[in-house]
Amino acid sequence: MIKSLIVIQIFLIIANCSVTSLKTNQIERGIPYIYQISDLDKNKSTPIKFYKFISADWEVAREGLINLNDPISKSNKLEKGTEKIQIYTYAIEHPLHGVYFIDSGVSVEFLGKEKPISGMIGSVMNIGKLKVLNTSRDIVSKNKFRVRGIFFTHMHMDHIMGVSDFMDDVQLITGPGENGKKSFVNSIIQGTNERLIGEDREINELVFNEKSNFFGLNAIDYFGDKSFIILYSPGHTVGSLAFLINSESGYQLILGDTCHTEFGWIHNVTPGEFTEDQQMNKVSLNSLQSLAKSIPGIQVHPGHQSLSQSVEKD
Ligand SMILES: [Zn+2]
Repeated sequence: MIKSLIVIQIFLIIANCSVTSLKTNQIERGIPYIYQISDLDKNKSTPIKFYKFISADWEVAREGLINLNDPISKSNKLEKGTEKIQIYTYAIEHPLHGVYFIDSGVSVEFLGKEKPISGMIGSVMNIGKLKVLNTSRDIVSKNKFRVRGIFFTHMHMDHIMGVSDFMDDVQLITGPGENGKKSFVNSIIQGTNERLIGEDREINELVFNEKSNFFGLNAIDYFGDKSFIILYSPGHTVGSLAFLINSESGYQLILGDTCHTEFGWIHNVTPGEFTEDQQMNKVSLNSLQSLAKSIPGIQVHPGHQSLSQSVEKD
């Protein structure tokens, strides 16, 4: 009896863990964005430079990346197996506000045989199949970036693996509630997450105005000039973000893991088992699909695969 009580107590303690125990600040930035249909036609924002880097090649379980129970997956005869994917990091360079990254890429710590994550997490993540192509340290130094902040599409481990390659004064910015979500899984990964991010770092969670609206999603015009719109797209995780960038090379839409794959985007199918809330993920994905359809020539970036040039979306 006493033994089972202790087990229950331990369970309650660890089941009550958040993504990290790092100090979290709520930050109000930019302007709540209420989309007008004329905005995109008459956009006079200063275009910003956009860079996409492939940090690593990787392979993970298809059933995590794509909802195989979706009728469209079934009609396409998609089955369990491994899917080739990549880890990306993006940089934006605003002429007035400087350089920010979206997701952190992969740090030099992942080059060696000994990875900075526990063996159990490494095997769950299939880390043996991770092939690092560009470390974040190399990306920053080759481009002479003076990085001010990193926005995270969300805080899953494959999106925070590069943080230690950035200076300590680089701000870490997430969506609402992303760092505080309490779950059993988080109790297992909390220590590794903190090791990857750094135990003395602080997380800044964006506050979205509920009246803001961009294709049904709450949105922030971050620099106040419509060049960089941050979209709150919950579902994959509670604080997932997507980003619309008016860049020198045209509009760019970063989906994060609201959609991991090319198949998911082309067929509007949500991710699979890696997603926390399928229904909410679907609502967010539908909004991003409508947004993309309204901007001719927009370039769309799923979380872990790039769309091939030949693919024409209906
Ligand atoms: Zn994810």
